[in-house]
Amino acid sequence: MNADAIGSLFLSVRGAAVPGGATLALAASAWLPSAVFAVLVGACVGSFLNVCIYRIPLDQSVVRPGSHCMTCGKPIRWYHNIPVLSYFMLRGKCASCGAPFSFRYAAVELLVALLFLLAFCLFPPAGALPPLGMRWLAVPVADDGTAALRALWQVPVWWLFVSGLVVATFVDLDHLIIPDSVTVGGAAAGLLLSALVPEIQARTVLAPDASGALLPVLVQAHSWREGLLQSAVGAAAGSVPLYLVRAAGTWWFRRRGRIGKDDYAMGLGDIKFVAALGAFLGWQGAAFCIGGGAFLGVLVAVPLMALGKRSLLDRIPFGPYLAGAGLLWLLWGPFFAAFYAAAFA
Ligand SMILES: [Zn+2]
Repeated sequence: MNADAIGSLFLSVRGAAVPGGATLALAASAWLPSAVFAVLVGACVGSFLNVCIYRIPLDQSVVRPGSHCMTCGKPIRWYHNIPVLSYFMLRGKCASCGAPFSFRYAAVELLVALLFLLAFCLFPPAGALPPLGMRWLAVPVADDGTAALRALWQVPVWWLFVSGLVVATFVDLDHLIIPDSVTVGGAAAGLLLSALVPEIQARTVLAPDASGALLPVLVQAHSWREGLLQSAVGAAAGSVPLYLVRAAGTWWFRRRGRIGKDDYAMGLGDIKFVAALGAFLGWQGAAFCIGGGAFLGVLVAVPLMALGKRSLLDRIPFGPYLAGAGLLWLLWGPFFAAFYAAAFA
């Protein structure tokens, strides 16, 4: 397939995202302030996620006590705890004792602010397209021609989703685990939210156009039953096969004496995380997360091994790559699906 064919395929996906054109969209004058609001909310949520990333693996409350310096223990005053800004105003030091704070706190806040903005950009202002060739959060039109207002809830749902990706990524990098509150809790949240906001469950199907040519079309769930069913299928689609591979691999490696009697061929946390990703993204997204996550992992691991920073036997966290693939699917999923469909149809 040449670049032109991919380009026109992509346009057809984007065009198909909103049948008959978007009937519910924010005016450009309301969109820009809303985008600024998305960034501010993202920075504040990022600040809270820093607390979650640090405390959840230690089994500490994420609410109490309030933020305090890890060195002198003094509480951090609210005006010294403004996301991103405080880090630079205090030059990365504690206001009481001067102990250095990791730049990662500010980086996570900036990252979450950016992710919230990107998720908001999936819902572009009237007459505009999402930037960077990203997908549309299509607003389904009901039989009577009205657009469902509840479709706007897709944006905060995806904010919650990207927050889970960030916590999973950084906890896995720090501790080589992904907390159950993100994986099991994420799967439960995905199921519940797919029933409440079925529009988040979208899959790409091939449908004939007027001339009979098969074109990829994004189809969204319309009822709570449809949303819940697609979410459940998505949760099982990736995790059940992976669980069977884990069981078979563990049996084989133990028999061969390659791993101990109490060791497993694969972490359970990654499998539960795939279930959570599938509960939000559906079966196509779950399949992409496994394949795309492995691809991203190889892309990062091979250079690290070549530089001698990693060996083949090191345990590497898989969560960040699964999360990266989940984000790619959220932003450009219909494009990847159309690409696969065209390649295998
Ligand atoms: Zn201090």
